[in-house]
Parts: sequence; structure tokens; C-alpha cells
Amino acid sequence: MKNDKKKVMIIEDDYFVMDIYHTKLIQAGFEVVGANNGLKALEKLQEEERIPDLILLDIIMPYMGGLEVLEKIKKDDKFKNIPVVLLTNLSQKAEIDTGMKLGAHDFLIKSHFTPSEVLEKINSLLNNN
Ligand SMILES: [Mg+2]
Repeated sequence: MKNDKKKVMIIEDDYFVMDIYHTKLIQAGFEVVGANNGLKALEKLQEEERIPDLILLDIIMPYMGGLEVLEKIKKDDKFKNIPVVLLTNLSQKAEIDTGMKLGAHDFLIKSHFTPSEVLEKINSLLNNN
């Protein structure tokens, strides 16, 4: 059977945040793959049969942070066109600027968005692509 669900990868080391977004996206009919650090995320990207339609990417994570992950994704022909949305905190203005220059599609400040608003943002990005 063909799987035509949209697929979102969540790269986030905060278990609580991961769990909220994961649950919300599954309920909305997405396929979700998660990774709790940058290294694992890159490994999983290589292993996935179907590349994600969109990536949510936290900035501060152990082993490899989000900006390094973003740089690697954007250098890889296979992955560079996947829209990446940075998951950020209020204090991360400089990191957001760097991320947008590196080719992130958008960012959201985690404490300002309810899970429903995150879902809305994802839907609108996917429908405009
Ligand atoms: Mg983090």
C-alpha cells in the first residue's frame, strides 16, 4: 500500500517538547520520525527510505547542535531542498540569524507557539511548497 502521509522529522533533545509535537502531528495524520540529537538525526536521514517533507530542528542539543545539522543538510544534494523550521528560544536571536542565513525556511519560538499553531505553520509550509 502506498504511504501518502506527509512525513515530518523532529530533531529535539527536550523529551517534553518532542513528545508534544510528536503526539500532535500523529493525531493530525502525519508520519513522524524523531531524533534527540544532531548525530542521530543525520544517521536516521540516511537510513530513511522516504526523505521527510519537512524538518523541525532544535538548536541546542548534545553531540551535534542544530546549526551544524542544518549546514550538513544544506550541503547534501539529497536533503538540501527539505524545508527546515528552527525550534528556538527567545534568547537565540543570533542563532536564528545564522540559521536563516544557512538556509532555514522559517523559525518558531517554542514558548510562543501552542502545538496547534505549530501544526498550522507546518500545514501552511507544506501546502505552499
Ligand atoms: Mg535543546
